[in-house]
Amino acid sequence: MQTSFLRQQQDKLIIEKAPVFEPLDPPCRLLCGPGPCNPHPRVLRALSMQEIGHLDSAFLHIMEEIKILLRYTWQTKNEFTIPVSGTGSAAMEACVCNLLEPGDKFLVGCNGYFGPRLVEMGQRYGASVVSMHKPWGQVFSVEELEENIRKHRPKVLALIHAETSTGACQPLKEAADICHHYDCLLVADTVTSISGVPLHIDQWNIDAAYAGSQKCLSCPPGIAPLTFGPRALEKLRKRRSKVKNWYLDMNLIASYLTSNGNSNRSYHHTAPINMCYGIREALALVAEEGLEQRWSRHERNAMHFWKGLKELGLTCLVPQQYRLPSLTTIQVPPGIRATAVTSHLLEKFGIEIGNGLGELQGKVWRVGLMGYNSREEIVQTLLVALRTALLEQGYSSIRPSFM
Ligand SMILES: *Cc1c(COP(=O)(O)O)cnc(C)c1O
Repeated sequence: MQTSFLRQQQDKLIIEKAPVFEPLDPPCRLLCGPGPCNPHPRVLRALSMQEIGHLDSAFLHIMEEIKILLRYTWQTKNEFTIPVSGTGSAAMEACVCNLLEPGDKFLVGCNGYFGPRLVEMGQRYGASVVSMHKPWGQVFSVEELEENIRKHRPKVLALIHAETSTGACQPLKEAADICHHYDCLLVADTVTSISGVPLHIDQWNIDAAYAGSQKCLSCPPGIAPLTFGPRALEKLRKRRSKVKNWYLDMNLIASYLTSNGNSNRSYHHTAPINMCYGIREALALVAEEGLEQRWSRHERNAMHFWKGLKELGLTCLVPQQYRLPSLTTIQVPPGIRATAVTSHLLEKFGIEIGNGLGELQGKVWRVGLMGYNSREEIVQTLLVALRTALLEQGYSSIRPSFM
């Protein structure tokens, strides 16, 4: 009897015993850290819908809806407004590798964790990177920005609109005006601000922006909004060298994503179909709620949370003027071990909040009230759980009226 060609070819298994696991059953968590947050139930349903092909006209229709919804969410008429396959860092890298050429001066605002990531990326692509620094939790003033731009004359400036490591919100409107006065592009990291904090790409004249899906959009991580305005597109068109990252080359991706009609859509990489379903539904929820209503909801719930923190005798790191509603950094009171509180919340309540990063390690907790999780009942739950965890650690400056 003949065995098949494939059977004959097959080597012996080097691991013979097949691993056997129970069906997947992750624990149930309330995600109030720096991201991801809990996806909206409608997004979870969308994610589980049946696959279609990435060149199917039904899918192309979904992609068009995503682009329209993204333009609304970001308040931009930029034709080139797309979902990048990957997390926020992929869209961040797309900005760096497409908008900078080797030797281009790249100025980066470093006032938290994410500026240095942009610096690292810029260096890898051969840009001449200059970083400007502010202590974590602070933002750059108009004067500081102007001074640095005048001194360094960068081709591109990158600022973090919502610094998730510190909870500070960097004003961008004046920054963009200064940039354009000196013929520089402004790239904005809007990962933790998109749909949670007022943000107007066109009115503020931001040239390029990127975001993530797992923060205020309440979609799982894995798909990342990106928009290029006219000046950014011109920089891309006038490149002397090829984009050094094949996967994120927006010239290649544009011919799949933005060409009209199906016939000239060319294959670049397979779009992550179900993540596209997810973000489509997440963005539809933003539009149904209305942007301004959504921004107010985030602000209202954050204010309740801040009031509750004050009643617990806790203080926020960032002054209210620059404080993000989507992410609050709470100062760890003296004598309290920060990680003991985060562990207590996770183990006893199934609540995730974030520890401090970098300079703020051990000094703050990071609480995200993002998207679907920006709700009054979650604020109340958080405050009760936090109070319990603090008492457990021997915290005593809770006001008697609250006890
Ligand atoms: C989360 C985040 C990123 C990175 O996004 P990933 O999805 O983790 O790759 C970038 N910038 C800021 C401000 C963020 O909060």
